[in-house]
Amino acid sequence: MRIAVIDYNKCRPEKCGFLCASVCPVNKTGVEPAIFMENGKVHISEELCIGCGICVKKCPFGAITIINLPEEMGTPVHQYGPNMFRLYGLPYPREGSVVGIIGRNGTGKTTAIRILAGEIIPNLGDFTSKPSYDKVIEFFKGTELQAYFTRLKEGNVKLVHKIQAIDAIRKVLKGPVKNFLPDNEKTREVLRRLDAEYILDKNVENLSGGELQKMAIAAALIKEGDVYFFDEPSSFLDIRERIRMSNAIRNLLSGKHVIVVEHDLAVLDYLSDYIFVVYGEPSVYGRFSRLKGVREGINQFLLGFLKEENVRIREYEIVFEKRAVSKKPQVKEVLRYPSFTVQLGDFRLEAEGGVLYEGEVVGILGPNGIGKTTFVRTLAGEVQSDPPLDFGLTVSYKPQFVELPEVPVRELFKGINQEIFDEEIRRSLEMDGVFDAIASELSGGEQQRVAIALTLARDADLYLLDEPSAFLDVEQRIRVSKVINRVMAKRKAVAFVVDHDITFVDYISDRISVFLGTPGKEGHATAPLEKREGMNRALKFLDITFRRDPQTGRPRINKLGSQKDMEQKKRGEYYYA
Ligand code: ADP
Ligand code: ADP
Ligand code: SF4
Ligand code: SF4
Repeated sequence: MRIAVIDYNKCRPEKCGFLCASVCPVNKTGVEPAIFMENGKVHISEELCIGCGICVKKCPFGAITIINLPEEMGTPVHQYGPNMFRLYGLPYPREGSVVGIIGRNGTGKTTAIRILAGEIIPNLGDFTSKPSYDKVIEFFKGTELQAYFTRLKEGNVKLVHKIQAIDAIRKVLKGPVKNFLPDNEKTREVLRRLDAEYILDKNVENLSGGELQKMAIAAALIKEGDVYFFDEPSSFLDIRERIRMSNAIRNLLSGKHVIVVEHDLAVLDYLSDYIFVVYGEPSVYGRFSRLKGVREGINQFLLGFLKEENVRIREYEIVFEKRAVSKKPQVKEVLRYPSFTVQLGDFRLEAEGGVLYEGEVVGILGPNGIGKTTFVRTLAGEVQSDPPLDFGLTVSYKPQFVELPEVPVRELFKGINQEIFDEEIRRSLEMDGVFDAIASELSGGEQQRVAIALTLARDADLYLLDEPSAFLDVEQRIRVSKVINRVMAKRKAVAFVVDHDITFVDYISDRISVFLGTPGKEGHATAPLEKREGMNRALKFLDITFRRDPQTGRPRINKLGSQKDMEQKKRGEYYYA
């Protein structure tokens, strides 16, 4: 079974002169063409195409994908149109359970949710006739989804949806948060559980990323519904807030149907009872696996092989080091700074002096509002400290919340270091696919990749990346880790990476600096520490321990007060048990 997909955001027949049609061997026979124009759009007939791949190679904009799928894929649940994305299989909610979804961006998670929410009636791959729930119910006969779609048809499912792109809220809502949440005890209880009662009096336009996320999660938890869907609830929250959010969802929605899409593996693991893995080729097709137990599902995803389905979803395995290994020789000093203090209004930062070596990536762990940005800005000479520091370092900085302007992405990259961009960044951050798009119209994950690429492409001595993992899928997080490490080595520079995804911080860092204290009042920054010590100090402060999954090495959060939790705390081993 062959599928041909055209990315119409990239296809520009007026620019290439309809090149694909003129190179296609089927078209050349002069009988019926495989590639043709209809209603001003390029189409490829999947029946006539012989799969030679010439058009794929020749298209100057990389707009065509041709893939052979095994027959067992069967009928798609939904296809957006001819030569467009198709979705196979669907996840389904379970009463009284949190069902997690894990998989690459662009493989149909949002499409599936819109179907379950009743926003799209799936067409079962037939986009020429009108879709109907009767056909869908017949299609899913004998499965859990038959009952679900029957209820949906009768209008008996109320879905509550916490969207991924929360900055949209800031664009439409202005004024105090309390104007947008009901004034009752439930609201106060939900906010209390999220430790966010104080946001009620703040204006929506002044909320930080984390506060906006809490507002969005609270708004969903307050609503009465049958099925709750949370799309990436942990972005912009710090570690403690992520755990609090998970507990709030589990406790307040116990007995309900909950579906969560989340790329922080430790949080997904902690939050979910079951997992659906979605796999496929981004923007081409996606397929949902069967329902799996949470540990098994995440492990199968990481190992790249779905056992029950007997499908390899990735060429390589993603595994994590179970021990802290120092990856870089600490030979050449790039930055040596003394202990210093900074006073900004009511906030005071005390930083311990430290040394960073060529090519090093130092992870920063600490809550929001504790002075991480202030710290780096001080090293850059932008903020006055006692004693004053001025190394004359050039800093390249990616803020936590990315907002790109309304210009073509290509323009943003004018004047960057082209060599490093071409050799290291372009491919691993998948820049070719977005270069012609308008930056502000890109998805959250695409904007994040552009912002990281821009930050790394600028010449600097010191790089600061604040929450680069937000909106990226697991594979992209791994690629970002590798590219940041490679670019630092090549530039002989150093980076501080702030992130709240503990698995990612572990993966990306050579050493770790820990920020402790009281957010908004005072912060204390340690010197860069060996990873074992850094993790132990940060997690002791948070009162959280992790164990390691024996199969994949991934860190798993221990339940507070469990035997493992208590035993590890006694030994002082919060992370590398
Ligand atoms: P995910 O949530 O996993 O990132 P989505 O369901 O948002 O994936 O999208 C999967 C693919 O479906 C996208 O890459 C896009 O190509 C396609 N798609 C999404 N919405 C539409 C639409 N309304 N019309 C046509 N194609 C769409
Ligand atoms: P983080 O990066 O850890 O989230 P920041 O360094 O941005 O924290 O901020 C730490 C604290 O300092 C916050 O409470 C913030 O409001 C305060 N702060 C930051 N800049 C200023 C400033 N120019 N004047 C007064 N307070 C500031
Ligand atoms: Fe040109 Fe590629 Fe579009 Fe074909 S698919 S018309 S080669 S841009
Ligand atoms: Fe034609 Fe080959 Fe492209 Fe198929 S893959 S449309 S046969 S050029």
